Order: sequence, then structure tokens, then C-alpha cells
Amino acid sequence: MSTENDVKFTDFPLLETIHQSIRQAGFERPTPIQAACIPPALEGKDVIGLAQTGTGKTAAFAIPIIQRMSGRSELGALVLAPTRELAAQITTMFNQLGKDAGIRVATIVGGVPISEDHAALSSWPNVLVATPGRLIDHIENGKISFAEIEVLTVDEADRMHDMGFVPQIRRILSALPRKRQTMMFTATLPDDVERIARKSMHHPVRVQIGQCAPAHRAQQELFELAEDAKAPLLLKLLGKSSGRVLVFVRTKRGVDRLARKINARRIRAGRIHGDLEQVHRDKALSDFRHGRRLILVATDIAARGLDISNIEHVINYDFPHHAEDYVHRIGRTARVDASGLATSFVTRDDRRFVNQVRKLIGENLPNPTRLDSYSAKPTHSAHRSKRR
Ligand code: ADP
Repeated sequence: MSTENDVKFTDFPLLETIHQSIRQAGFERPTPIQAACIPPALEGKDVIGLAQTGTGKTAAFAIPIIQRMSGRSELGALVLAPTRELAAQITTMFNQLGKDAGIRVATIVGGVPISEDHAALSSWPNVLVATPGRLIDHIENGKISFAEIEVLTVDEADRMHDMGFVPQIRRILSALPRKRQTMMFTATLPDDVERIARKSMHHPVRVQIGQCAPAHRAQQELFELAEDAKAPLLLKLLGKSSGRVLVFVRTKRGVDRLARKINARRIRAGRIHGDLEQVHRDKALSDFRHGRRLILVATDIAARGLDISNIEHVINYDFPHHAEDYVHRIGRTARVDASGLATSFVTRDDRRFVNQVRKLIGENLPNPTRLDSYSAKPTHSAHRSKRR
């Protein structure tokens, strides 16, 4: 992500405490999405932000919300996120930038005992970050008052759509006051999402950062190989690697199987997918984040939006079936000031998906190197020097 523009945080009319927190966070200049979103959002306008993960979206909506909610006693802002992990990261950002300005944020996500929600809600939050499913439970049983909600943010709306959350979002929208500010962030704009945006927003300012292209600094390489050659090549790549590696697998069972295979080689890998209990997901994530385990095997949904810095290498063990997922996966590396490598394994059956990605991101995608007779020792040119 680049922050090359002339805009400075001090150009924004923010409370001094917020400026201080921004400085303490080490943010020197707004990223492009922040530079474009913060001014209209501060004016109370509706905003549609089209940007991939890793562009600084979270602070782009958190900063205006913090300014508006500062010192408020009742619940005034709701942020919807598709996954628990993303909700946790958003909460962290609100705490980091908003605590000194009087922001009290509560998080309501599935997979934790409902008593924790009640404790969180009794702390008088003025900002609520939630995943749709659990929030609906609270709407149904009347536990949360939405009467004073002034700002709604829907983060990663395209992913919500992919996860089948559109009916829940409609239900939540119908429970909110009609007069409010709405911000929506998404990497792509599927029809359903666009319809919801049109219905629920008022003359939104549309902000688009970059064409849906992976972060420029990520170097990409593709290997075409047979399904049964994938595991040996992966183990070989992992054996050589010294940094953090995120490995994407299509299915939850596939994640389990592959993590077992890697661990059998005494390379310690964590795993994360939607069927694992929250404590295990949190543990896998924190082990990875803190470098206790340098390899994390994940499904798309579990890994979506995770803000883990210094991922040197993303490996698409299974090539994604949705082109947008490729963009999101690659977005895991080369975040902010890091650069990274993205390796994809492609089988014959994946060729059409590779073509779809090429349509989406254009010529940026290199042609696959064919590893026809892979013999645990790839000598192909694409393999060597691209690794650091
Ligand atoms: P997104 O929501 O687009 O995935 P995040 O908001 O999580 O991206 O930001 C990605 C990373 O960049 C985070 O670690 C965040 O702390 C950092 N970041 C955000 N804004 C800035 C900024 N203006 N300058 C430097 N780093 C930033």
C-alpha cells in the first residue's frame, strides 16, 4: 500500500486526542483510501469505498466514527464485519485510535458464550462491532437498542455476500433508524451488494482505490502441476523458507489433512478454518502473529481480512475458484510497507480459474511454469531468484 499523496492527517479537523493517537500508532500520512474517505465521512456523507484489504480501510472509517462518537454515552455506531477475526481487528483499531477520545467499543461475535456479550453490552459501549449472525440473535431478543444509531459501516460487503449474509444484512438494516450515515467497504461490487447499497444509502460518495489488482509489491509465480505433486513441492518450499508463510487450501478438511502432513515432517504449522473452536482459531492466529509458528494453513473465509504483518510468502495450495479470492489472498502479503511473494499451484482443472483471474487483474499475472515431471527438485527458472 502506498501512502504517497500530499494529504496529511493534520489537514483533517479532528480532535487533538485523535491526532495524538494517530501519531502514537505511527501513522504518518493517510493512505489513499483514508485521504479520500475521511473528509466526506466527517461531513456525514454516505460513502462506498472500493478497496481491497491491506489498504487502510479500517482507519478510513474508524477515524470519522471516533470523531463523531467521542464522548457520547449511548450506542451510536455499528460496524458489521464478516468474520470474528476481522471484527477483533476492527475493535483493536477503535481502541488504538479512539480510547483517549472516549470511545468504548464492544464486540459481538458468534462462537463465544452469550454471557460475554451481555458483559460487553453492559459496559455502555458507544461503538459496536459485530458479525451479522450473532447480532441478529440480539435483535430478535430485544437486547440491544438501536434507536440512537447514527452511523452504520458494513466492512467487506462482498465477502458478506459470498458467505450468504445478505438476508441478515437486510434484517439488520430494517432494525436501524432510517436517518443515519452509512458507509460500505468492499473489494468488488456484486449486483446484490450494489442493490443493497442503492437502497440503503443516500447519494453516496464513491471512492475507488486502484483497480482490483493485487498489491504491486507482491511478486507472483504460478506452477502448473499434478494434484499429487502439490504436497511434495509445498514441503520443499516450506523447508527452504525462513519467514512467515500463509498457505491457502480450499476446504476445511483439506486444511486439516495438509496441516497433518506438514506437522508430520516436524515443520510446525498452525491451521485455521470455520469449524475450529474460537479458542483454537485465536491461538493459531496469535502463534502465527507472534512468530511461534511460521506457517499457517487456512481457508479463505478464516483468513479473510486478517491483518498480519510481515507475511513473506502466500502459497495458493489450491487455486481459488473465485477470482476475487485470488486478489484477497495476495493482499495478505505486501501489506503497507512489506513486500512479498505469492506462489500458486495450478492443476489442469484450474486453468479456467487462472483465466478468470487474468481477466480481473490483467497482464499482471505471469504464465504458469509447467512442472510436468516434478521430481522433488524443481529447476525451472521461475522458481529460483524470485525468492528472497
Ligand atoms: P484493511 O482494513 O484495508 O485491510 P487495515 O486498516 O487493516 O487495512 O490496515 C492495514 C495495516 O496498515 C494495519 O496494520 C494498520 O495499522 C496499518 N495502517 C493503516 N493506516 C495506516 C497509515 N496511514 N500509515 C501507516 N500504516 C497504516
